[in-house]
Amino acid sequence: MSPASAPDPASPIGNTAAIASGAALVRVEHLSKEFPAGSTGIIGGKKLSIKAVAGVNLEIAPGETIGLVGESGSGKSTLGRLILKLLEPTEGAVYFDGRDLSTLGRAELRALRRQMQLVFQDPYSSLNPRMRVRSIVGEGIEIHKLARGAEKERRIAELLAMVGMSADAMDRLPHEFSGGQRQRIGIARALAVNPRFLVLDEPVSALDVSIQAQIINLLQDLQEKLKLTYLFIAHDLRVVEHISNRVAIMYLGKLVEIASRDEIYLNPRHPYTRALLSAIPTIDTAHRPERIKLPGEMPSPMNPPAGCAFHPRCPYAKDVCSSVEPKLETGRGGHAVACHVFPAP
Ligand code: SF4
Repeated sequence: MSPASAPDPASPIGNTAAIASGAALVRVEHLSKEFPAGSTGIIGGKKLSIKAVAGVNLEIAPGETIGLVGESGSGKSTLGRLILKLLEPTEGAVYFDGRDLSTLGRAELRALRRQMQLVFQDPYSSLNPRMRVRSIVGEGIEIHKLARGAEKERRIAELLAMVGMSADAMDRLPHEFSGGQRQRIGIARALAVNPRFLVLDEPVSALDVSIQAQIINLLQDLQEKLKLTYLFIAHDLRVVEHISNRVAIMYLGKLVEIASRDEIYLNPRHPYTRALLSAIPTIDTAHRPERIKLPGEMPSPMNPPAGCAFHPRCPYAKDVCSSVEPKLETGRGGHAVACHVFPAP
């Protein structure tokens, strides 16, 4: 895997040049999502909600890949779905190519949605087992009336070739393929409608390590060829290292650190980022960071801790951490951190 060539980052939420010119492809402002907590979410007679995403700001420049990393339950997949408008936000706005998605009518939204696609985590359950590959990949082409008849067949074959599969695959069912091949079919399906932006929701987590590298290489090649922009969601910093221009770390619904790929891996600031990095297996024992074992689980998003939400697990927590929430402040080179003890550089 070759490292991504990074656009210069210089703000906590975006790529300098693109944003200065107002050219961010995706812009997220104060985005929040709360879900009703159900019957278990009542404390002292007060109904609680699950704060899955809480006030996220983010900009993604054209051609950029942002790796969005956090433990399960951090809100990263919800953020991805909010950006695609598969979920309605409780607060905040999503702009795509400068247009506020909440102001668009149905037809406009449908047309714009074609440009934003999702690749799912699980290649086993995300493909309809009764549909042949021809129908899976061709569905979007049909819905958006992009091609018909022989032209559609030609396009499906072209998409399969793009993801490294032969046209023979068209007549087969998903169960006839390996996990890696199924993920290739999922990617072909997403590309069928000529998108500009892909949310890749843990696209390699269900695959063997050797296959993961192949899929990541494929995604990099496709990005270059088709000028795509990615939000690559993962729970593991190892997976996003080679593909990301910038990396954003999410904890309990909030971004706690965001910086260029090199800054995150060489100069991590936030204790949560350091703990995630220390968990990456390495054979380079000389440069292996000391393993930081975090006590306990991530707290419930129904009842997040006061102050810094990470303080019950943080080995560096001070008194202030349990009462005052640290703001995401930007430092040198756009490296932004939300921490009282390890501020932005
Ligand atoms: Fe740890 Fe305090 Fe920083 Fe939170 S603000 S990450 S508790 S040191």
